[in-house]
Amino acid sequence: MGSDTQPLHIFFFPFMAQGHMIPLIDIARLFAARGNKSTIITTPPNALHFADGVDRDKQLGLDINVETIPFSPVEAGLPEGCESLNHVTSQDMVMKFFKAVGILQQPLEHLLEEFRPDCIVADIFFHWTTGAASKYGIPTLLFYGTSNFSLCVRENIIRYAPHEKVTSNSEVFVVPGLPDQIEMTKLQLSNFGKTDNKFTEIGEKIKESEEKSFGFLVNSFYELEAAYAKYFTNEMGRRAWHIGPVSLYNRNIIDKAQRGKKSSINEHDCMSWLDSKKPNTVIYVSFGSVSSFGTAQLHEIAMGLEASEVPFIWVVRMGKNKENDQFLPEGFEERIAGKGLIIKDWAPQVLILDHPAVGGFMTHCGWNSILEGVSAGIPLITWPVFAEQFNNEKLVIQVLKIGIRSGNDVWNAWFEPEEVSVRKERIEEVVTQLMGDGEEAEDMRKRARELGEMAKKAVEKGGSSYNDLTALIEELSLHSYQQT
Ligand code: UDP
Repeated sequence: MGSDTQPLHIFFFPFMAQGHMIPLIDIARLFAARGNKSTIITTPPNALHFADGVDRDKQLGLDINVETIPFSPVEAGLPEGCESLNHVTSQDMVMKFFKAVGILQQPLEHLLEEFRPDCIVADIFFHWTTGAASKYGIPTLLFYGTSNFSLCVRENIIRYAPHEKVTSNSEVFVVPGLPDQIEMTKLQLSNFGKTDNKFTEIGEKIKESEEKSFGFLVNSFYELEAAYAKYFTNEMGRRAWHIGPVSLYNRNIIDKAQRGKKSSINEHDCMSWLDSKKPNTVIYVSFGSVSSFGTAQLHEIAMGLEASEVPFIWVVRMGKNKENDQFLPEGFEERIAGKGLIIKDWAPQVLILDHPAVGGFMTHCGWNSILEGVSAGIPLITWPVFAEQFNNEKLVIQVLKIGIRSGNDVWNAWFEPEEVSVRKERIEEVVTQLMGDGEEAEDMRKRARELGEMAKKAVEKGGSSYNDLTALIEELSLHSYQQT
């Protein structure tokens, strides 16, 4: 911050799901590190996941705090303890959860009235925040937690409905109006992208909230998707500040290891395992914080990885039917000992990706994961499952050209589908190809390395994300001054 500007007080209101909370907590810590006061608003159980990190920042002298507000899942017909989208296990529960979070509006308003912050950064799923904050003259910055690219794709699918002009679900169509020729099929569209379903109403409320907001905070960096950042502003009329990749603000081992939640493996054990491997030889396989596969698909992944003979770290989300390790083929763990490491439930992802032994990432294309892979400078195998993950896959494959498709072609809910979408032969093939020394893989590695360098430069002093944050802080300070 400039010496002539007063510190701002900013509220951060993350949606209760790891993929939304993790980056917004990083952003709250970042604003505090730049001399402002950050207050994170969440429910008591969710606050526990990042309490240690906040305490560490406080000890360093940062002005960062947490205010908790009550949330009663039972009132909304959800089971006791269901305080995060990560606990939701059926489609019916998803809708209930989205409805239930509306209960938070009133306690949030009380906090806004009491503290009168200079700005609130709210997750887009709390679209009602814009209205609530405007009652007190407080500007709202919205946080989608995804790329500009993905928002542009979604906007033009809604605007031009190209999927309504095809004759089959698997017929390829081009998304009109975008800077690149982006090809998709109807099977890959998310519920939010399609028209006329139960998400349409939420989509409309989000749009209203966007129009009333101060702008968007984007976890991305300009150089990664410049054409889409421009499109987002110039063609879609949205103001946006790009301040990512925010994972890069976690600089020490403990912050990286505890990001999101405490990992199921001791970080030092994990690092020693990686230290024993040669540079760029290990593939990291993880499908994010919510998607979980059924036993048949897990068997295919296990056999595909084993057949590839590439060393791997594989994170398996624990869910139903997983208690007795039945999800692995017989004798698998003994056979892969030393060559493969299975982490059950939660891995220190950023710590792993940043290790020099890791040379590739098989990902479900959650936006955080893609950015973390890009920041680490490694190429990707894309295996999108749900949400806007197929859009993100298009950015990786068709624009950045730093990945290979696993071949999953069907958007699905994330609740352990029993069917197999990618067979072991294909898994072996793509892993071998990505980690091998073929020309195409070399080119991808080179491009990925260059992007990784750009990502790191973007967040350093004088970099594009650093400067965008400075510009935002200055603008908010001016806005705040004019209000007084
Ligand atoms: N993550 C992690 N360990 C895990 C799984 C996920 O640290 O075992 C983190 C990951 O680094 C990322 C976030 O959780 O920051 C997942 O977000 P993403 O957008 O990739 O996917 P989502 O979970 O929202 O589908």
